[in-house]
Amino acid sequence: MPAPRYRVFATCNIGDDALNLLRSRGYEVEVYDHLEAPPKKLIIEKVRSGIDALITTLRDPIDAEVFEAGKGTLKVVAQDAVGFDNINRADANRYRIPFTHTPDVLTEATAEFALFMLGCVARKLYPSERLVRENRWGAWHPFLPFLGDEVTGKTVAVIGTGRIGQAFMKKAVALDVNLLCYDPVYQAQDFINKIQEEMDLRRRHGFTSEGRTVRYVSLEEALAGADFVTLHVPLLREGEAATPTFHLINESALRLMKPTAYLINTSRGPVVDEQALAAALKQGVIAGAALDVFEKEPLPADSPLRDPELEDRVRLFPHFASAGRITRLSPDPDKGMAGRCVHALMAVLESGQSPASIPYVVNKEAFQ
Ligand code: NAD
Repeated sequence: MPAPRYRVFATCNIGDDALNLLRSRGYEVEVYDHLEAPPKKLIIEKVRSGIDALITTLRDPIDAEVFEAGKGTLKVVAQDAVGFDNINRADANRYRIPFTHTPDVLTEATAEFALFMLGCVARKLYPSERLVRENRWGAWHPFLPFLGDEVTGKTVAVIGTGRIGQAFMKKAVALDVNLLCYDPVYQAQDFINKIQEEMDLRRRHGFTSEGRTVRYVSLEEALAGADFVTLHVPLLREGEAATPTFHLINESALRLMKPTAYLINTSRGPVVDEQALAAALKQGVIAGAALDVFEKEPLPADSPLRDPELEDRVRLFPHFASAGRITRLSPDPDKGMAGRCVHALMAVLESGQSPASIPYVVNKEAFQ
């Protein structure tokens, strides 16, 4: 049976294959098909026109103004991301409008990118390639013009041991590192035990000459003991959680890290105080950073992180960690964000179930 003629506005082209799934079910889909996000005014206008569903990305601020415009008509906001800090959850709950997200399908892509960023900054991939490209590779020399830092055998602190933090650890084991974990909300002890078993097996098989360990520690211990600190937390501002993550990595946190340590951030920009980070990098408080996310995106031209003095030890990426072809675009809800996004949207509109029991609805609490 064809679905009723639902109207959807997508603030971005999340991929034709997935959007065509909606069209093939009789949905009327309007797409804001531009490189940049639509102005909020336009989103409100579209919502006020009576659409049933709004597809959003992390670039769209969705709050009471939007929900008010959709009072009585807007039935779901489907976010094409796992993070949803751009959506005001309290406002969505007040208006009793469910919103969905796309967990799991981007976990592996994001975790592998974090690991690649870590290797990239530690082993100086960017400055060393530039040397060749700019024809400044004068001669092979044991230590000139610079050296990188090995990853094998080092200690990595994983801050946030949810889906992506755990996927990162699974991959990092092969690099023979010790792992320090910090998560004040969710301690994945069974998972950690399995990682330890794998580390022990690698030792028994002679894949590594030394035993490696994984354990939960305090934030202070994680920061002080690590050669690399990788962030995998959601952005939670003051008042949104008992343990907010806004500026979790601030001046005092950076001062706890070793001067030889690197910070890797694929979570959200505001988890790190960028001014404090730039100052710490300049003063040699830490050795370097690899950043995929920023307090303001795209990264402003005058950001202190662009300081040419920092260029060799700071890697900057355009919120790219989940940007694998399949991960971003597959219409398969078990493979792609776009697929999971539209399937979650259809489930809310078509299943007839309470949002409280629909997978990928974030704010289930509003419907219980
Ligand atoms: P998740 O919810 O599975 O895991 C997050 C973990 O952080 C949870 O275990 C939670 O308990 C923990 N946490 C919460 N507050 C904390 C705190 N104060 N200190 C330490 N840990 C805390 O989420 P996920 O799927 O692993 O995704 C994590 C985040 O990564 C997303 O919210 C999103 O912002 C970001 N992300 C970025 C990209 C990218 O392209 N750069 C891609 C995917 C996800």
